[in-house]
Amino acid sequence: MPLTIGVLALQGDVREHVATLTRLGVSAPAVRRPTELDACDALVIPGGESTTIGRLARTFDLLEPLRSRVKEGMPAFGTCAGMILLADRIVDGVAGQETIGGLDVTVRRNAFGRQVDSFEDDLAVDGLAEAVHAVFIRAPWVEEVGPGVEVLATAAGHPVAVRRGPLLATSFHPEVSGDDRVHGLFVDLVRGA
Ligand code: GLN
Repeated sequence: MPLTIGVLALQGDVREHVATLTRLGVSAPAVRRPTELDACDALVIPGGESTTIGRLARTFDLLEPLRSRVKEGMPAFGTCAGMILLADRIVDGVAGQETIGGLDVTVRRNAFGRQVDSFEDDLAVDGLAEAVHAVFIRAPWVEEVGPGVEVLATAAGHPVAVRRGPLLATSFHPEVSGDDRVHGLFVDLVRGA
């Protein structure tokens, strides 16, 4: 059976993720309802605005189903806002901001924004032979990692790509650069899970 990797489609750069996954030969439906989530083997959580995505997930009755699926071991890949949504702890969130959680990290929202709003950098990423051209847009960084969390890439001395078991998160947006290799890592991870 072909792999189905849904893209959480409440807000953010959904289309870019769907296009990338489709290029990799994966079925990539948009996920807005619990029944659509049920049909997925894995999920991508896009970049956008984590407060909005979290609020809409609550409104659409998706937050608890998302939490249970991740807890049960569904592989998930979050980029930027998606990284924030997968984090167990946030620094500089808004009051009452809810996440899906599951990834034992502390993420600082808009972390690079104090110095510069958006920037690009060539990053060495563990598991990829050549550097990734990484686009950061009001990006978070990982401030603290729990036991068993692997750091796959760093920028300005902070982790910006992390993995634990079937959960992968990047501060940057591999979906906007036309480089499919980071999604490729996720697809391999899903196939291995
Ligand atoms: N700063 C945004 C947030 O808090 C994330 C930005 C992005 O996804 N490009 O959610």
